[in-house]
Amino acid sequence: MRKLFGVIGDPIAHSMSPLMHNDAFAQLGIDGYYQPFHVKSADLAAAVHGMKAIGVQGFNVTIPHKTAIMPLLDQIDPLAKAIGAVNTVVRENGGWTGYNTDGAGFVQGLREECGGPLEDKRVLLIGAGGAARAIYYTLASEKVNQIDIANRTLEKAASLAESCPYSVAGTVKTTQEAEAELAAYDIIIQTTSIGMLPLIEAAPLSVENIKPGAFVSDIIYNPFETKLLQEAKKQGARIQNGLKMFVYQGALAFEKWTGQTPDIERMADIVRHQLGGNYVNN
Ligand code: NAP
Repeated sequence: MRKLFGVIGDPIAHSMSPLMHNDAFAQLGIDGYYQPFHVKSADLAAAVHGMKAIGVQGFNVTIPHKTAIMPLLDQIDPLAKAIGAVNTVVRENGGWTGYNTDGAGFVQGLREECGGPLEDKRVLLIGAGGAARAIYYTLASEKVNQIDIANRTLEKAASLAESCPYSVAGTVKTTQEAEAELAAYDIIIQTTSIGMLPLIEAAPLSVENIKPGAFVSDIIYNPFETKLLQEAKKQGARIQNGLKMFVYQGALAFEKWTGQTPDIERMADIVRHQLGGNYVNN
């Protein structure tokens, strides 16, 4: 019988995950289907129980359910528990197990494109929201030496660092402090929503003082090159957008569900094609 997978969120209509996963099923000859489900917060518990009842094998979780779903699951992977958010749910021993592949997806893409070991690099993380938390905790769990955080709301950055269960050096900075000390960083990771619609002409900080050859990763992928990435490129930095993170978090979920590794480049091409190249679809 065909195996059913999906993604739950609100809104969900623009998700590119169904295209990516259904193509991977076809490529690998797996009899599976991935369906987007529009689930409102008030219906989350009913949806999670209902999916178990009808035999769904696994699903992704997106905004606004990544944290709210946790008490509804049977087991939670330790890293997802530490992050406090689940984006992938797998049917294991008849129950639901929650994982977070956002951080691991990001770090896999970073390792691939940044070059050299991450462990001894000095990292600046801009932002302290859900995505920043997943990335910070995953980098810390992988023994990166120093991660400083710059965020509009300093208390949120401090609380993110304080509650991290993995030991890592670093301080919390205002955006102005981070700008002034930018030359100290080998890697800059941008995780705020500045650079996305409607803020496509804005950048979270000025990159005038960037270290030559620094690596700048912005987890936004629509637009493909945010203002920050454009400015960083002008200053001679190497840049990466959020497409790799998106594709790898999906690929890691796919592996957990099927035990098979999808074609990453093909997945990335599907998303690029769907976005229509470098354009912002509003
Ligand atoms: P979130 O939890 O709402 O966090 C938003 C972050 O952006 C916070 O640090 C917030 O600062 C900051 N921010 C928002 N508006 C700002 C403004 N006007 N000025 C200064 N700072 C501002 O969101 P999230 O889930 O972490 O997502 C953040 C971004 O990552 C989104 O653009 C999302 O699309 C992208 N993302 C990409 C992927 C991928 O696979 N590539 C995965 C997940 C998320 P405060 O703490 O001060 O409010």
